[in-house]
Formats: sequence, C-alpha cells, structure tokens
Amino acid sequence: MDFSFTEEQELFRQNVRRLVEEKIKPRARQIDESDEFPRDLWQLLAGLGYLGLRHPQEYGGQEADVVTSMIFYEELARGSCGLAMAVAMQTLMGTYFVARFGSEEIKQRVLVPAIKGTKIGTICFTEQQSGSDLGGVRTRAERRDGGWVINGTKIWITFAPLCDFCTVLAQTDPDAGIRGLSFFLVEKGTPGFSVGRHIDKQGARGAPMGELVFEDVRVPEENLLGEGPGDGVRYTTDILNEVRVMTALLACSIASEAMEEAAAYALDRRAFGKPISAYQLIRAKFADHWAWHQAARLLAYQAAWMIATGRPCREECMLAKMFATEMCQQAVDEASRVLGGNSFSMDYPLQRHLRDARFLLFGGGCHEVLRNTLGSAYLKRRARRG
Ligand SMILES: Cc1cc2nc3c(=O)[nH]c(=O)nc-3n(C[C@H](O)[C@H](O)[C@H](O)COP(=O)(O)OP(=O)(O)OC[C@H]3O[C@@H](n4cnc5c(N)ncnc54)[C@H](O)[C@@H]3O)c2cc1C
Repeated sequence: MDFSFTEEQELFRQNVRRLVEEKIKPRARQIDESDEFPRDLWQLLAGLGYLGLRHPQEYGGQEADVVTSMIFYEELARGSCGLAMAVAMQTLMGTYFVARFGSEEIKQRVLVPAIKGTKIGTICFTEQQSGSDLGGVRTRAERRDGGWVINGTKIWITFAPLCDFCTVLAQTDPDAGIRGLSFFLVEKGTPGFSVGRHIDKQGARGAPMGELVFEDVRVPEENLLGEGPGDGVRYTTDILNEVRVMTALLACSIASEAMEEAAAYALDRRAFGKPISAYQLIRAKFADHWAWHQAARLLAYQAAWMIATGRPCREECMLAKMFATEMCQQAVDEASRVLGGNSFSMDYPLQRHLRDARFLLFGGGCHEVLRNTLGSAYLKRRARRG
C-alpha cells in the first residue's frame, strides 16, 4: 500500500497553498461579511487554469486527475469556504453536463468561457417542494415545434443572479416519475428565463444565492443534455461521487482551520494560573480531533483514489462525505468551547467556520438520507453472505 501523494501532487498542493495564504485568506472576512462574489479572485484562479482542472485540454482545461482536483478544493477551503463552494459549483455540477453531453457548438459557447472564468454556470435541481427527493421535481419540459418549452421555479441556486448558463433538471415524462427527469441547458437572455427572490444565507458566503424562474422558456433540441429524455438522474451518479469527496475535503479544511485557531488560543489563554492548554479536558479535544480528522481525510482521499482508478465507489464516497462532515460539526463545536465567550464574537474567524460547517450537511446528500442508503447497503451485503 502507498498512502503518499505523487511529487507532482505535493508540488501542486504547495503552489495552491501559497496562493491561498497570500491572496485568499486575507480576503476571507470581507467575502463573508459582504457576501459579494470576488470576481478578481475568480479571474486569478481561472488565469492559473484552476477552473478547468478536470476538463479536456482541447477546451482549455488541464485534464488533471481526481486526486489533484481534490487537493485543490481542500487547499482553497482553508482560505474561504464561500469561494471554494463557488469554484466547486463551476468546476463540478455547473459544467459537468455541458462538458459530457453538449454539442461542439455548445462547448465552444459555454464551456470554453467557463474555463476561462468569463461565464458562470450553475445547476438547478432544488425546488420549493423537492430537495433530496428528486421525484418531487415539478419543473416541466414539453416537446414543442422541434424543441423544448420549460416551466417551473428552482430555489437555493448558487450564483442565481450571476449565472450566464444553468443546467436545469425538468420532468419530461410525469408518468415515469424519477425516470422521467432530464437535464437542459438554459442560457442567460433566453426569453422567459429570469432571476427570482434572493436568499440571504448564513454561511458559505461569497456566491449569491436565490431563485431562478422559467416561464415558457424555449430551448432547441440540442439543449437536452443527455442521450435522450429520461436519463437525468442516472447521469448524476458519477459527478455526485466527486461532489461528495469534494465536500468531505471542504469539511476537513474547515475543521482544521477551526482547531488551529483553538490551539493558538489554548496556548495563549490563561485560567487559574496556567495556560488552558495545560488542562487535560482541553488537551483531549485536540487528541480526539487529530484522530477524527486523520480518519476523515483518509476516507476522502481513498474515495478520490477509487474514482481516479475507476473502481465502483458510490458508497465509499457517501461514507467519506458523511463522516468528514460530522467530524467537522464536532470540530467547530469543540473549538468554540476552547474559545469560550470569545467564540461568540464576530471578531474571531471561528464564528465563520461555525456557520460554514453547517452548509456541508446538505449538499451532496443530507445525512439522514445517506445513512438510510448506507444502512440498507450494509444490511443487503450482510444478508447476501447469509
Ligand atoms: C449553501 C447551499 C447551496 C446550495 N446550492 C444549490 C444549487 O446550486 N442548486 C441546487 O439545485 N440546490 C442547491 N442547494 C440545495 C441543496 O441541494 C438541498 O438543500 C439539498 O438537496 C437538501 O434538500 P432540502 O434542503 O430541500 O431538504 P429535504 O430534502 O426537504 O430534507 C429535509 C430533512 O428531511 C430529511 N429527509 C428527507 N428525505 C429523507 C429520507 N428518505 N429519510 C430520512 N430523512 C429524510 C433530510 O435528511 C433533512 O433532514 C444548496 C443548498 C445550500 C444550503
């Protein structure tokens, strides 16, 4: 067995880390407080090729391996979780379907500028009455005059007011339930496509969030992203694996940033004549975190390696996402206890980590749903063994 990164991957990590320390960390507070999209940092990342890490070179991408892309997300989240979430949206769900199913013309019009950072893409699954349960999607796409007409409203859409294009999940065959869902490309400026209500979110700030409304939005046949209608959900599996591992590594970074802050505080803060780091109950928090964090990171990179080497790993990616995100909740909670009353002050970065950690619970699968699926998979395996 070999648990080490390649020399190239280590070098890549150092480069990203340097960039994050110099350019992103100093801006983290401002990005969080304003919830404004940092376009200059976006262009900086695009200029270095980071928005096209996984995309083909012929469209301006880097064709990096999955592990390298995960190193990137992990390092970026050390600087700003909001920016890391925005970048992950653009590079994973926001461009995946266009890159996989778009015609050459669509790729030139949408994917190439997305990799250059001049166009922003997002994904539209969620609706008022349907989040985890995609079977509840009511947005409708109907065939008309050789194309499709889309009607519906999506909520909780990252980049809603800024996106230049989006991939929309819509029902093309209501009688087929979840097997009647399909993805469509909709571009800014298409008549009937508009931005709805803004959502002011508590964490992962820096990419504005809101509703997108589709009223008789007409798109040509080539905007159906897939081999045919009805295969939408099947296509999400591959990219969801990457989304889950990415989320796990965001969780690892938020947790370690919080505990680093807590460690510096514990070494400095005195109570009853000693630094609080001298007390066993305070030390225990760091021992527990060390073990949990290491385990979470190993699960995440193992899952990344499984994706990279083409091994089936849907469950391993779910395990990594669930474990790392729960570890992160615990880490930010324990770190806040170390800081005592100061953890409640907006002056300390810790309050940002506390808020950021919460959003990880929902993207890539709520844990109640993941536990249900994983528990059932475990029991099925057990039953097969007899
Ligand atoms: C910061 C952020 C960014 C987001 N960006 C996007 C985006 O760009 N595009 C997009 O489409 N969506 C986006 N979302 C929405 C996100 O995908 C949903 O929040 C997620 O799918 C969960 O859906 P929900 O919030 O409606 O919760 P629900 O699915 O309604 O779940 C509510 C509760 O019920 C539980 N539950 C549901 N089903 C079961 C079950 N079978 N068994 C046990 N418990 C169950 C859940 O675990 C949860 O505890 C974003 C959300 C956040 C917070």
